[in-house]
Amino acid sequence: MNQQGASGAVGETASGPAAAGPVAFIGLGHMGAPMAANLARAGVDVRGFDLSAEAVAHAREAGVPIAATAAEAVAGARVVITMLPVGRHVIDAYTGGGDGSGDAGLLAMAAPGTLFVECSTIAVDDARKAHERALAAGHRNIDAPVSGGVMGAEAATLAFMVGGADVDVAEARPLLEAMGRRIVHCGGPGLGQAAKVCNNMILGVSMIAVSEAFVLGERLGLSNDALFEVAANASGQCWALTTNCPVPGPVPASPANRDYQPGFASALMAKDLDLAAQAIASTGVHAEAGSLAAQIYARFAEGDGAMRDFSAIITDIRERSLTTEVSGERGEGAS
Ligand code: NAD
Repeated sequence: MNQQGASGAVGETASGPAAAGPVAFIGLGHMGAPMAANLARAGVDVRGFDLSAEAVAHAREAGVPIAATAAEAVAGARVVITMLPVGRHVIDAYTGGGDGSGDAGLLAMAAPGTLFVECSTIAVDDARKAHERALAAGHRNIDAPVSGGVMGAEAATLAFMVGGADVDVAEARPLLEAMGRRIVHCGGPGLGQAAKVCNNMILGVSMIAVSEAFVLGERLGLSNDALFEVAANASGQCWALTTNCPVPGPVPASPANRDYQPGFASALMAKDLDLAAQAIASTGVHAEAGSLAAQIYARFAEGDGAMRDFSAIITDIRERSLTTEVSGERGEGAS
């Protein structure tokens, strides 16, 4: 299905995505497989690798050429893209034994000067650690986490938030453009992850605020439609309200209308808010709302909320409000 001779692109002056390859794509899960498939579709010489046989089979079916080992994927690659679960996986894959075959880590396998593009959502500190390790091994590295979810990965409409040197970001850009629609260079190493963490902290806090407001309105006798009509056209307006509205009705496409099928699962919101909490701790920022949001979503994702859309937090707030009414009625005997 590739439109261009893949390996022939090396060293050519063409500027399309194929010219940036060959690309080793490590991590072919829910996100990585469709992203790698889009690169292959754009004519890039992709060699995918994953530790999971199931992920490999699924990616192959989606059109991703598969390498038998990480070393085989990385051999001759100009760019190594990683799309792995958490920071620990990224550091392990970079530095040692990441393919489970006893081979060394990706950094040791790659030719000098290889561009490592780290797309997983990981802590800012881990992104900077990965960056330092890559540089120490004689390579280049940028962080390029994404938003847009599996649907965005499949449709090549992801948003990339990128941190790294101008020249490296420019080199990666044609590849990112083959997988996404919006590429924002946020600054130096780690600042792509920083932008993602800050944005998702806004999202988590605002979803809780919107949900609490709806439940409060319900208790006060206000209809959801009336509150929506007012807030959506006033200063309460935000994405959590007008696009991902946590009550069914006012925004027909929001997950609330399909029993909170994600969308953006609460487990992923809990993960991103935990990364925000780590950043809050490491910087000493007095971010009470962000810290509390991390706790609220961690608790929700521990139970059956994990796989529901993050707007289902409203159901938890409603349930807890029932208990609060019973125990705190009339506000007597404050303890
Ligand atoms: P996933 O668990 O589906 O896929 C991760 C894959 O990495 C797995 O197939 C696993 O086998 C593989 N893997 C782990 N260690 C490896 C190694 N050393 N070598 C090779 N393969 C290895 O996760 P996902 O949903 O694809 O998410 C990937 C990243 O993208 C995460 O950081 C996640 O937070 C982020 N993200 C996910 C979404 C989403 O909607 N799923 C949205 C935005 C960002």
